[in-house]
Amino acid sequence: MNFHILTLFPDMVMNGLNTSITGRAIEAGILSVEAVNIRDYANNKHLKVDDYPYGGGAGMLMQAEPVYGAYEAVAKHIQKKRETEGQVQSQKIRVVYLTPQGATFTQRMAEEYAQEEDLILLCGHYEGIDERVLEEIVTDYVSIGDYVLTGGELPAMVMIDAISRLVPGVLSNEVSAEFESFQDDLLEYPQYSRPEEWHGKKVPEVLLSGHHANIDRWRREQSLIRTRERRPDLLK
Ligand code: SAM
Repeated sequence: MNFHILTLFPDMVMNGLNTSITGRAIEAGILSVEAVNIRDYANNKHLKVDDYPYGGGAGMLMQAEPVYGAYEAVAKHIQKKRETEGQVQSQKIRVVYLTPQGATFTQRMAEEYAQEEDLILLCGHYEGIDERVLEEIVTDYVSIGDYVLTGGELPAMVMIDAISRLVPGVLSNEVSAEFESFQDDLLEYPQYSRPEEWHGKKVPEVLLSGHHANIDRWRREQSLIRTRERRPDLLK
């Protein structure tokens, strides 16, 4: 899967994603991540990409043209690649704008995005981005929660991390993504590792029994109990 991040801070996203599991998947060629610097598409000699909002108000706004230029360069590249691979040209390229005004990101959305071959993620900064370019290029508006961050880079990294681990081959043990929180709208059951007793607390006996049907039943019950306690909204 190929992630294309349109950002004013390419180093921030690349440094964050080049390590750990995503880093290894990039190295293995299972994922590719490119950060496109929007500033490279500024059309003035000072490489300025922001300006005052019409109508007044605090802060600066990212201008439409550099954002559009960065998008166009990436979109052309994707179209060309599809052309050489003989893919359907009409297939729309998904462009996600990270914004507190978007739909809240969920595991289900991660599963859906993991089906895409290419995903463009647009990161805003300052007070956001001129509405006109959003209208022209954005297909999805996504938020990572009801709070306001300074930029879209951390949200883009959150999305890429969650999506990547669902791409086949990214996790070394595929089973580890098999039952996890939010599948079947449940939270995961409690887990234990060695030693069998720690600080006077014993591992539940059923987990030591080797009886797989009983273990499965216990885990299912624990998932239900935990979901009812911590996230009753999921059970609805
Ligand atoms: N003025 C905007 C508003 O009130 O909706 C907020 C702009 S915010 C300071 C700057 C950028 O950070 C946004 O353009 C967006 O890309 C990103 N951002 C901030 N909070 C976010 C969130 N909860 N989820 C996703 N992106 C977020």
